[in-house]
Amino acid sequence: MTDIRVVETLRSASYEGVTLSFGTVDVTNQVVSFLRKRLGSGEVLGEEPLDLPPRELRTRSVWYTVPAEVLTQAGLEWADVPGAAHAAEHAAIGLLPLFATCDRWDIGGVSTALHEDTGECTVFVYDGHPGGAGFAERGYARGAAWLQATRDAIASCECTTGCPSCVQSPKCGNGNEPLDKAGAVRFLDAVLATGLATASAG
Ligand SMILES: [Zn+2]
Ligand SMILES: [Zn+2]
Repeated sequence: MTDIRVVETLRSASYEGVTLSFGTVDVTNQVVSFLRKRLGSGEVLGEEPLDLPPRELRTRSVWYTVPAEVLTQAGLEWADVPGAAHAAEHAAIGLLPLFATCDRWDIGGVSTALHEDTGECTVFVYDGHPGGAGFAERGYARGAAWLQATRDAIASCECTTGCPSCVQSPKCGNGNEPLDKAGAVRFLDAVLATGLATASAG
């Protein structure tokens, strides 16, 4: 599991409730267990607990917060929010390399239906290098285009419930669960409809 804390907000802009921010975060990765899978079929054979110290990373992140009213307008039930936000996070990680010169392995993400620092549903995408490497900052600067491209990539993918081309991530710490492809499109439509889509062109 990955825990992320906001240390300092350096920049932010709000659009009818949705706030896009850039700043310093502490990311703590605690690998608590891993799934043993059968090679080929991917069948889960069992879960092995691990007892490792948490790894900590102070870096830069871009994040956006989505208030409950916007989630309701998107037609998302509270139970749908974790899967929708998680799928939107994965797809955003996959699309950031089009806007920042990075590889998806250079960045990480965390999504949560209720983050203790923001008090709202929050999606973070952070630089995987200590101190940050400019990728999250680029994501912040190109926020509107990046999230629009993320939404379009999910919506146009021909799979039915999500695949590695859209919302699945090869490095998900949660075994790609939960993921809600259709919910992610509604989630991002609602986020972009706040005016974010046309606001930041920088
Ligand atoms: Zn897909
Ligand atoms: Zn994940």
